[in-house]
Amino acid sequence: MFAESPESPKRVVVVGAGWAGLGATYHLAKQGYDAVLLEAGSHPGGLVAGWKTAGGRSVEAGIHGFWYPYKNIFGLADELELSPFTPWTRSAQYSPAGLEVESPIFQNEPLLPTPLGTFLYPQFRRLPFIDRLSAFPMLYALIDFDNSHEAWQRYDSITARELFKQYGVSARLYSDAFNPMLLVGLFAPGEQCSAAAALGMLYYFILAHQPNFDVVWCRGTVGDRIFRPWVERIEKAGGTVLSDRRVSDLILDDTGKATAVVCGDLVFEADAVIFAVGITGMKKIVSGSPSLQSRPEFRNLNNLGAIDVMATRLWCDRKVAIPRASNACFGFDATTGWTFFDLNSLHDEWRDEPGTVIEADFYHSNQLMPASDEEVVATVKNYIATCIPGFREAEIIDSSVVRLSQAVTHFFPGSYQYMLPAQTSIENVFMSGDWIANRHGSWSQEKAYVTGLEAANLVIDRFGIGSKANIIPVEPDEPHIDFGRKLNQNLREIGKAFLPDFWLP
Ligand SMILES: Cc1cc2nc3c(=O)[nH]c(=O)nc-3n(C[C@H](O)[C@H](O)[C@H](O)COP(=O)(O)OP(=O)(O)OC[C@H]3O[C@@H](n4cnc5c(N)ncnc54)[C@H](O)[C@@H]3O)c2cc1C
Repeated sequence: MFAESPESPKRVVVVGAGWAGLGATYHLAKQGYDAVLLEAGSHPGGLVAGWKTAGGRSVEAGIHGFWYPYKNIFGLADELELSPFTPWTRSAQYSPAGLEVESPIFQNEPLLPTPLGTFLYPQFRRLPFIDRLSAFPMLYALIDFDNSHEAWQRYDSITARELFKQYGVSARLYSDAFNPMLLVGLFAPGEQCSAAAALGMLYYFILAHQPNFDVVWCRGTVGDRIFRPWVERIEKAGGTVLSDRRVSDLILDDTGKATAVVCGDLVFEADAVIFAVGITGMKKIVSGSPSLQSRPEFRNLNNLGAIDVMATRLWCDRKVAIPRASNACFGFDATTGWTFFDLNSLHDEWRDEPGTVIEADFYHSNQLMPASDEEVVATVKNYIATCIPGFREAEIIDSSVVRLSQAVTHFFPGSYQYMLPAQTSIENVFMSGDWIANRHGSWSQEKAYVTGLEAANLVIDRFGIGSKANIIPVEPDEPHIDFGRKLNQNLREIGKAFLPDFWLP
């Protein structure tokens, strides 16, 4: 199947149709490569895929936000001439005690040097100012963590909780602000997150620039609004997207170069291969692949892990007023974070629905996974009613529960050393996805898309055919942060010159 003739363009097989795989395939197809994308599932999109229930209602693997710094994804939407997004939305945060904080649209507030706006503009209902002030010593860690390999090595082996404790963050600020952010941003509680990942994620989404926390959502499923038209464009550009194709092995020749991937009974020949699958998917491929098992870097992937998440959608018999369209919650379960969204206000499809349509997504949802759908729906209804009391009277007329087992990357302490860079020890095999060690500085969907483009660029470097994708870098540090980082780096260099290399990093 797909045999190469002498004049054929170079064939690149991309494995996995999430943001990373679609990004790599689209760029390579545009550059004239024979780009073949193999996806194990029946829909493209990976963790962002959407589909219809048996009753014809749209559901998806969780609601996905697109934050202000997602410049590459916003650029893609423009290139595809899509307008998939809502306007910037304000969010709220709830605990079992009720509303805790409402965020403004930060870009509309007078710009202050970071991180002042982040601390001054949100309307905190309960968190005392003194607790917020206790975050300021953390500024040093933010300056010291510059996303370099050395910074990851310095901070990856301690937990985020230890880091916050070390810098004197108050117990209240940790439990009511930082830990909830980690549960939603890294899908795990602070005692299970790497301090490096916590610093990188918080800086990118919240602290680097005042508007970074501003967010838009898709006006329907991302599958409908972005992936379907994107796949059409990939096919128009000459790329091939094949679903229900689960890759199980990689074939290497005598020189150690990849020549094909194995997919059930089919063999897809390849001049280069890009893996764009999540950690759990990659571990499964390695477990069935003698060629990958022969390489320590791939065997070491067994040291990585992923996290359970659950996406629920409820259709109600009546409209219940929900003040903000997007809401994050904490304090309901010790190690689970959750969010809920008013889909009548976010999704065009539900705007005129007579009853409320609400999505509630649970991160680090381990203990919820074995519960029956009925138990899950009852829990969700009870939790939402705690935040929005009007919900208590509503009847649920339909619901969907999507369990995503071991689905999202777990950035746990000590995991960085096993995360692969884009270039592997197999010269024509490249890695991409939101868990790859790269230096761009983005996270989540934007990072996945960027790593797909980075892998495509490595293919272009290898064959010298086509133009590289233009990857928009993250916005440079603000001048005072830049100054602090340079000063800190210089002091580190001076320290290294005089002090023995004796202490733990
Ligand atoms: C509930 C939830 C909420 C989230 N919220 C946000 C958010 O608000 N904002 C944000 O930016 N990010 C969010 N994320 C994270 C975001 O979804 C991921 O960072 C991003 O989608 C990862 O993309 P990816 O391309 O790296 O991998 P994936 O999306 O995991 O894609 C990998 C693909 O590989 C396929 N695959 C696996 N094994 C094989 C195989 N053997 N052969 C062929 N194909 C294979 C899979 O089926 C999958 O389609 C959320 C995730 C979840 C689950």
